[in-house]
Amino acid sequence: MAFYIIINYPLVTFTIIYLKKNMEGKSFTNFTEFKEFIKKHEEEQHVLFVTSGSKKLISGHPAKESIQYEWLKLVCKQGRATKPTSSKGIRPNQRSWKHDCGAVIRAVIRHSDVTGYQFVITKAILSHENHPTDHLTALVYPENRRIKPDETVNLMVGTKIPQSELRQIISQKQNKCVLGKDVENYRKKLKDPCTDSEGVEKIVNSIKVGGVMVKYGVTPENEFLYLAYMTKEMIGSLKANKTILIIDCTYKVNEYLFPLLNVMCIDANGNGVPVLHAFVRNESIEILAECLSVLHDVCVEPQIFFVDKDFSEIGAIKQCFPQSLIRLCSFHTMTAVKKYLNTNVSKELSNKIFDLFKEQSYTLSEEAFELLKVDIISACPSVESYFQNNWWSISDMWAACRNTDVASLHITTTNHVESYHSRIKKHLDSHTTLSVCVTKLLLFDSDLSKIKSAQHHIHKITKHYSTLPDTHLLTLYKNILTPFGAELVGHQISLFKRCNYNIV
Ligand SMILES: [Zn+2]
Repeated sequence: MAFYIIINYPLVTFTIIYLKKNMEGKSFTNFTEFKEFIKKHEEEQHVLFVTSGSKKLISGHPAKESIQYEWLKLVCKQGRATKPTSSKGIRPNQRSWKHDCGAVIRAVIRHSDVTGYQFVITKAILSHENHPTDHLTALVYPENRRIKPDETVNLMVGTKIPQSELRQIISQKQNKCVLGKDVENYRKKLKDPCTDSEGVEKIVNSIKVGGVMVKYGVTPENEFLYLAYMTKEMIGSLKANKTILIIDCTYKVNEYLFPLLNVMCIDANGNGVPVLHAFVRNESIEILAECLSVLHDVCVEPQIFFVDKDFSEIGAIKQCFPQSLIRLCSFHTMTAVKKYLNTNVSKELSNKIFDLFKEQSYTLSEEAFELLKVDIISACPSVESYFQNNWWSISDMWAACRNTDVASLHITTTNHVESYHSRIKKHLDSHTTLSVCVTKLLLFDSDLSKIKSAQHHIHKITKHYSTLPDTHLLTLYKNILTPFGAELVGHQISLFKRCNYNIV
């Protein structure tokens, strides 16, 4: 045994150092050469690297054609897990390949008069942790199971050969481990090739009529990353209503199971109106931020974003709109706290603490907020760290007293987007192809805007009874604002009257 350790240990270390020396500093004259080099390394070491970040060269750059990238970061398929998202709760069956492996390769474009432009590996950590690196592991990575497009395979998939037989044939023909679901995915891809860039381009062109803003991203391997778009109507709605935006994702609305990110604004009648749709491969901060940046061209700084407590969404908003406020949906906040209390403290105590927390979220006084904190801790000292870590440290996202100067238009939840989601789900499901999904959404939105303008007209030509006392000022506003707008102004005036102030 001792013999083994002595012999093996330096050997492993030697291999790692050797590999590292072999790769760092290595340069390539074009991207294809780099890709082939990485592929060879992956095959030899039974590992798989995936893109975790990249920056493309600007168009017109002399190396745009050959090298394509300013920089590229590859990480092990079983690398560091991304930040937790609350959406995990919604999809409990989700699995992850991430095992916190630290292997990474970074390449950067360099230029010198002697060599010209080169793609240089500047960092290569090639020791893998927490996961096996053997032949079978490499075989079962989804990327390696993917069926290569091939005419005879296409023909067979189109026929009625049973799936299990087809799987065997393809496995042998392409010399890889192919599962039943891989064949199923391939069948779907053949039916509607929208996960490749060509197919997405087709959809983009078909909706790009009359000033539509579209942004879509693919990986270096040309795999779909995201498709975000704003129609002319959406751009108009956002231009008119920049104060509050509500963000949420919905799932199972297309056959690729790409989550659909929706952003809505609140119009003059208090209705939620969609301003951005984005299909995303996953909900990483990077991808969500790319999608949200589409809003940028129309509106640089919305005042408030409403989200449920999804860390990716929050991270993406902070990246794109650092000046905007982020507020958590009060419904999600209360549900999360209730759930924690129900499982961690006695029923009686749970109700008591919940009421104190609710009060904390509504109170407009900073002082009362701090006192309620003390009340919660003295009622049950064991919950202090939970509240401190999860809620008090981010009180600007949910406590009314932290945002007294913000007009949130009566919005406290992400309800508008959620009800929109439940309505679109009557038209979309996990069998809808992406192109059909886009088309149906366009139809749904235009129908929605027709209904809204009809309702708006009805509002305008009918008489309204306000819940607020009539004053001369309010009557004036009612004539020039929408009923919702007048109601808001009335509310603000009544709040203002309640404030004590001194003139100095
Ligand atoms: Zn690894």
